[in-house]
Amino acid sequence: MSTPTRITHLIDGQPWTGTAERTSPVFNPATGEQTGVLDLASASLVDEVVRSAVSAWEEWGDASLAKRSGVLFAFRELLNDRKEDIAALITAEHGKVLSDALGEVTRGLEVAEFACGIPTLMRGGFSENASTNVDVYSIRQPLGVVAVISPFNFPAMVPMWFIPVAIACGNAVVLKPSEKDPSAALAVAALWKEAGLPDGVMQVVNGDKEAVDALLTHPDIKSVSFVGSTPIAKYVYETGTAAGKRVQALGGAKNHMLVLPDADLDLAADAAVNAGFGSAGERCMAISALVAVEPIADELISKIKDRMGKLVTGDGTRGCDMGPLVTSQHRDKVTSYLDAGVSEGATLVVDGRQDSYDSDGEGYFLAPTLFDHVEPGMSLYDDEIFGPVLSVVRVGSYDEGLKLINSNPYGNGTAIFTNDGGAARKFQRNVEVGMVGVNVPIPVPVSYYSFGGWKNSLFGDTHAHGMEGVHFFTRGKVVTSRWLDPSHGGLNLGFPQND
Ligand code: NAD
Repeated sequence: MSTPTRITHLIDGQPWTGTAERTSPVFNPATGEQTGVLDLASASLVDEVVRSAVSAWEEWGDASLAKRSGVLFAFRELLNDRKEDIAALITAEHGKVLSDALGEVTRGLEVAEFACGIPTLMRGGFSENASTNVDVYSIRQPLGVVAVISPFNFPAMVPMWFIPVAIACGNAVVLKPSEKDPSAALAVAALWKEAGLPDGVMQVVNGDKEAVDALLTHPDIKSVSFVGSTPIAKYVYETGTAAGKRVQALGGAKNHMLVLPDADLDLAADAAVNAGFGSAGERCMAISALVAVEPIADELISKIKDRMGKLVTGDGTRGCDMGPLVTSQHRDKVTSYLDAGVSEGATLVVDGRQDSYDSDGEGYFLAPTLFDHVEPGMSLYDDEIFGPVLSVVRVGSYDEGLKLINSNPYGNGTAIFTNDGGAARKFQRNVEVGMVGVNVPIPVPVSYYSFGGWKNSLFGDTHAHGMEGVHFFTRGKVVTSRWLDPSHGGLNLGFPQND
């Protein structure tokens, strides 16, 4: 066993040199080995970091569009060059397999590419002669210092949903990554300095509730972008907005895949396995409820079972299909749903508890698990399990399936599998979910659209990246302008009218 490495904050472009009052262990979930010891920020350190970001912002907020887009282009190139290194850091602390980690970095990179277009994205409108000799135009300006608080499951991509857009818009950022796997976010943040971003515009504080609370109430933090579980998202939204900030807080999910009887069942089985078990089900867009419209359930389950038999679970660096869960506590919690499901009356079709996995150590593994005859009211269905557990719910009709999905308190992602264009169109129109796939199981929008759910999957009204991101990280201003013209002089206390 090697000595755990110290992992610390990134402040004003440098690793922090102070001594932390509190630390937290970081593990390699594929071996169970403690690899890191993470400094946790106190509220007073957060205050110091925000103040320093404010000074840095005073200059960055005035940087030209040309300068800002230049930094974005340089950042994009650096990230592209280092993406394999970042992926390796993700696998070492999160556990997801290397190819999946690389996919995550690539999707984050796409947001940086979107933000390279900031001169066009921030362009305002201009109306000449709105009234006689009066011009009206709109501009968008940065907010100041913004906070980003991210979850463990996409340690590199989720921060990048926000940070490139926030920086391109002229803001300074304080990121608080997940304390479970902070290293990938820190490595990406360090690239900004190399890309030419002034020190202090991109700050990283590591921490837990104390650091989050300090950010949520700090008077110099202008907005909060949060991604995590629903109870914390709701808390962050309520606390941040009560402190007068704009907040977008993306929460948990329970994503349903509706399979109609006319669907291509091989395609649907592949999709269910990929979207159910990829990243060990620790994706906010994972499919956890497979809604089969009878009479296809038996045939679909048999195809899914065949495919599950071929999956290898183990260390993500070894070319396995699926890695471990993030912590031993989370693995135990997910595993507890297996016994609960059986006692609540569901049928355990494939049990993921194995005697051994493809790993040298004591990793936090649970292989893909499949349940049939799952119903609302069972904890398997009602809870966001966030693990490799796929539940089949059998329904008698399309309408029954749609009603089930719309009754669920979450509304992040969903998918329909069918060859009937009319049914798909009806579904996309009537389903109460923010991101919809038609024969696409994980419909994560491209960076120039916006990512976000409905209902308990989002608190606030603004999704991540795309134009919604540009709007979130800027304030609009409209200027009505008239240059001196003697014909418009004189007193008039009436409300201004256009002529
Ligand atoms: P989490 O809510 O436990 O943690 C998220 C962040 O909040 C972390 O930075 C953590 O340090 C902080 N935090 C935790 N407890 C806190 C508290 N009591 N007070 C203040 N801050 C606190 O989430 P997680 O386990 O890291 O991530 C998994 C969850 O995130 C799942 O529910 C998943 O669905 C969700 N998620 C949602 C999306 C989406 O787009 N909707 C994307 C990714 C993940």
